[in-house]
Amino acid sequence: RKDLGRDGYSFFDSSMNANAQEYLQLIHDLRFAVERGELVLHYQPKFDDPAQPVVGAEALVRWNHPSRGLVLPDDFIPVAEKTGLITAIDNWVLNEACRQLKIWRDTELGADWTVAVNVSAVQFRHPQLIETVRQALDRHQLPARSLILEITETTTMRDVEESLAILQQLAKMGVKISIDDFGTGYSSLMYLRRLPANELKIDRGFVRELKQDTEDAAIVSAIVALGKALSLNVVAEGVETMSQQKLLAELGCNSLQGYLLGRPMAADDFMCAADDRLQT
Ligand code: C2E
Ligand code: CA
Ligand code: CA
Ligand code: CA
Repeated sequence: RKDLGRDGYSFFDSSMNANAQEYLQLIHDLRFAVERGELVLHYQPKFDDPAQPVVGAEALVRWNHPSRGLVLPDDFIPVAEKTGLITAIDNWVLNEACRQLKIWRDTELGADWTVAVNVSAVQFRHPQLIETVRQALDRHQLPARSLILEITETTTMRDVEESLAILQQLAKMGVKISIDDFGTGYSSLMYLRRLPANELKIDRGFVRELKQDTEDAAIVSAIVALGKALSLNVVAEGVETMSQQKLLAELGCNSLQGYLLGRPMAADDFMCAADDRLQT
């Protein structure tokens, strides 16, 4: 570890399983990833009801690195947030997702689909956010209600008053707000009541080992009750097994996302999969 600095401290995450050289290389490569067209979006289907057709997709970014292959967001989004590169990435994601959604909505099958885009903590507070969203919708001639912005509970909890102001502007424009990774922060009821959101996404952590009569099950049913009381759609993410799906239904949660129903996939594959579902 001699390359980590003379005075014995490291400004690199110890979790970063790469040496300093490699980390710097990553930042360097990432700087050009957008302009070189190396980013791609995969789309994971969302269901209001697993027995019904797809209602939309969540866009998930991947980096097609020339030598490393497909890099997942957890390996470059945190770096992008620290270096400020996230703004260019998030803007690209927003525009690309809107471009794709427009193509889908011009087909019979996808006419009512929505697309959900993840907004990083940095991007959420960017002064240009509202304008950027408005421009993306205009450019691709999409109704605001066809776009869902996923913002984590933790992000909205930081400076609550400012968050409310931003969310109110977005809601006024007509875009939908989904509170991602819900249950991991500590939103108060008072706060939630004021939050102009449309959806709560139960964090995958509560679904992973979901079993009857466990703490996780109690938390899921509490979130479902909360959603009902506040007229919010409640979605469970990370659904991998039939038994999870069944139990979620028993707990009152039918809106689902997860490998069981569909993995994130390239746009063309997404359309084929949605079409196949209707045929069978
Ligand atoms: P997230 O928003 O909570 O997204 C869900 C993650 O869970 C995705 O990982 C998805 O592929 C994965 N997943 C979906 N279903 C299942 C399942 O049944 N089982 C398991 N084990 N995993 C499942 P992914 O694509 O690696 O993304 C990780 C995180 O990176 C996302 O978490 C999100 O916070 C962030 N991210 C992804 N795309 C973007 C983006 O375009 N912009 C920003 N700012 N962040 C993004
Ligand atoms: Ca998400
Ligand atoms: Ca999530
Ligand atoms: Ca997450």
